[in-house]
Amino acid sequence: MHKSKIEDESEVITDGKPEVWEVEPSRAARNCRNLIREIVDNLNLEPNPEKPVIALSIGDPTVYGNLKAAEETVQAVRDALERAIHNGYANSSGTSEARQAVAEYLSRDGVQFQQEDVILCSGCSSSLEHCIAALADGSKGQNILVPRPSFPLYWTLAEHIGVQTRYYNLIPENNWEVDLGHLESQIDHNTAAILINNPSNPCGSNYTENHLRSLLEIAYRHRLPVIADEIYENLVFPDQKFVSMASLDAYVPILICGGLAKRFLVPGWRLGWIAVHDPVGAFEKIRKALNALNQRTIGSNTLVQGALPAILKNTPQSAFDDLSEFLCSNAIVAFKKLQEARGLTPFMPQGAMYMLVEIHMDRFPMFNSGLEFTRKMMEEESVFCLPGECFTIPGFMRIVLTVPMMEEACLRIIEFCNRYYTK
Ligand SMILES: *Cc1c(COP(=O)(O)O)cnc(C)c1O
Repeated sequence: MHKSKIEDESEVITDGKPEVWEVEPSRAARNCRNLIREIVDNLNLEPNPEKPVIALSIGDPTVYGNLKAAEETVQAVRDALERAIHNGYANSSGTSEARQAVAEYLSRDGVQFQQEDVILCSGCSSSLEHCIAALADGSKGQNILVPRPSFPLYWTLAEHIGVQTRYYNLIPENNWEVDLGHLESQIDHNTAAILINNPSNPCGSNYTENHLRSLLEIAYRHRLPVIADEIYENLVFPDQKFVSMASLDAYVPILICGGLAKRFLVPGWRLGWIAVHDPVGAFEKIRKALNALNQRTIGSNTLVQGALPAILKNTPQSAFDDLSEFLCSNAIVAFKKLQEARGLTPFMPQGAMYMLVEIHMDRFPMFNSGLEFTRKMMEEESVFCLPGECFTIPGFMRIVLTVPMMEEACLRIIEFCNRYYTK
């Protein structure tokens, strides 16, 4: 390649394509890792060409088209678009109408939220990002406590800013309740917050009021604020009652994270919220911090904000009931069927959209890990479940309950297990 002296710059920059020119990503970018992608991409998945793929892996309820947003939800956006007044920027925390609507939606069971307590974000992921960044300081070596198993996003968001995640155990046989002793043992002088996800992804658990109170007692005793990921609020099976952590009258400051993604079946609309519940006045500076963090991206989509009051008021209870009933019936099918599968133990969920299934790896000695097990199942049965490694719980797999062909999926899983089960 010809290399000239820099005499005429215009000549130099058009002087042939350099052979080596790689731009290095920043440290912050290198620290940003997605556990599910890293694991799934490395599996080199190849489905069986003779069988149509059933993806029990994707936590997006809209993928198969069987679960659709309610007509009222969609109409609200059409109307907002037509009004043509929701095209501009809003206050970074959201318009006052939209914040007021969320405050009213969340004010129940004795809790009162005002519009100033609500910050609208770009999806609940963004709500969680802001809460972790507002409460925990990577430069001080702080940590947050997160459940094991849990949604890997918490780890990604924390790791990226140098905040450590410390895991507290959940007990499968106890409806995935928190091992309280273990939770308490994980707290140290660098702990900045406890994150609680209820109802849970990936467990599908829905905690009782009593259990939530026990968790708040620990938070109170150690003066730790709580981040409550309640993206599955009220998305519980028909015989269950959802209890928000904010409704428990404890003197613990809590950031409630939620949004439209799951219960309203519109994850792509990217509308999340943080509701600040602060019965002791501990969060004055944190409110400002959350606002400042949201200002970096000038807040969330204003078209959906324009529709939000109508979405929250008009979406009928029957739409939520239909969704809960569908998820519950799929959970019952999967639970009953998979009990027939040799070497598996399914754990019956109570809400959200997932079920965890234990794989008794000692019965499948030909597979070195749950990764190999799920990869082979995809190769032979074209059924893919995320291995527990994605949720820091090896020896399990997560199945998504939103799909229309649950029974067929289970039959294939059973066949696969029967084929490889070893006494
Ligand atoms: C889906 C999900 C979220 C993210 O929701 P978005 O609004 O789509 O960003 C957060 N937490 C849990 C546990 C989830 O399953």
